[in-house]
Amino acid sequence: MLYKSERELIITTLQRMVEIGLVVNTAGNVSIKIDDHYIITPSGVTYEYLVPADILVMDGNKKIIEGDLLPSSETDLHYSLYESCKDAHAIVHTHSLYATAVSTITNELPAIHYQITDLGGPVPVASYETFGSPELAAAVTEKIAGKNAVLMQNHGAVTIGSNLKIALERSILLEWLSSLYLISLQSGQPSLIDNRKLKDAVLQKQKYMKLRQDTNKKS
Ligand code: 13P
Ligand code: ZN
Repeated sequence: MLYKSERELIITTLQRMVEIGLVVNTAGNVSIKIDDHYIITPSGVTYEYLVPADILVMDGNKKIIEGDLLPSSETDLHYSLYESCKDAHAIVHTHSLYATAVSTITNELPAIHYQITDLGGPVPVASYETFGSPELAAAVTEKIAGKNAVLMQNHGAVTIGSNLKIALERSILLEWLSSLYLISLQSGQPSLIDNRKLKDAVLQKQKYMKLRQDTNKKS
């Protein structure tokens, strides 16, 4: 079996997504890209019953190399995002509650908290298109430029990462930021962080990453 450990990682990631409430039933999908191979979830399968053989391996022409089930209806979306974001090696798509709620009321999740810098700054909302359609793939791909996350109007959210752990962490962060935004909106007009201060937060993060590395090396 090709990519056994990646298939197992996809299954444990999906189970974690169910556990923490990022998806219900068969919503959402996940993929990993290694070289010219795309390892992706099947369409409409309840996650708790997934086994490694159910995960598909496809080539650059969307031809199935291994797997008997139908690949995710959002396969075009995953390919299109990998095509446009060369550093991405994993994608997580959810219908998480707060992110989906935000997608219905605005065209951008604003900089309500400095951690939004991990998503590349304010998160754009792609226009509503039918799930699984090339139009949806195009709308989301258009918005991902320079970002690690996009909200999908009246649908859900997508995050990308250099690996699946990072893409999942970004989905969790996006859900938290979305909940923070909605709670704040209910209590008043939330203040926002301007671009200059967001850039300071990025620099500060880089500084502390380096400090941590240097300190941990010594211990
Ligand atoms: P699949 O089960 O076909 O991946 O579809 C789920 C989904 O979220 C569609 O947008
Ligand atoms: Zn979806």
